[in-house]
Amino acid sequence: MAVRKILKFGDSFLREKAKDVHKVSRKIQDLVSDLLDTMYANNGVGLAAPQIGEPYRVFVIDVSTGDEPLNPIVFINPKIIKKSGATISREGCLSFPEAFTDVRRYSDVMIKAMDRKGRSFVLEVKDGPLLARAIQHEYDHLDGILFVDHAINRFEAEEELANHNLPPMEVDKMIDEPELAEKINELLEATEVEESENEE
Ligand code: ZN
Repeated sequence: MAVRKILKFGDSFLREKAKDVHKVSRKIQDLVSDLLDTMYANNGVGLAAPQIGEPYRVFVIDVSTGDEPLNPIVFINPKIIKKSGATISREGCLSFPEAFTDVRRYSDVMIKAMDRKGRSFVLEVKDGPLLARAIQHEYDHLDGILFVDHAINRFEAEEELANHNLPPMEVDKMIDEPELAEKINELLEATEVEESENEE
């Protein structure tokens, strides 16, 4: 189909809530093809419809690397039905060229969605692999939530955006996630202990 233009952070469309797909029509299948073409053309791991200006609850992910065969997964009308655990995820986003920051994520997710043929499936991913984190990242796009809203260190994220000539953080959009934050702090403390032990 076509490689589409990706909206950049600062575009208010990225903050809109996307709509459910009522029918996996030809138009939606074309949208899926465009998402895949655009994601691969930009070497992305995932891409959500709102990032190309389409207000639908659709995203695609492919976590294959190097010589592995392509493995696109299409999610239409997804619903995260279970999430637990905690993991620190260093993330970027095609709407934030070159900028990366550490964000809070659940390590385990279970998601239900439809594939590009409208067949429903359930996928469970555990122990914080890239796929589990990508699912949460892309899912958020459907609700107008961006990865920097989950930043562990707001000031580091702020600096990273400035260094890449992106607009400043939208601090009022940051997600308050006290339970997850507490688990992440425990993880960070455990890492610090390990590091200091290594020094001896
Ligand atoms: Zn993104």
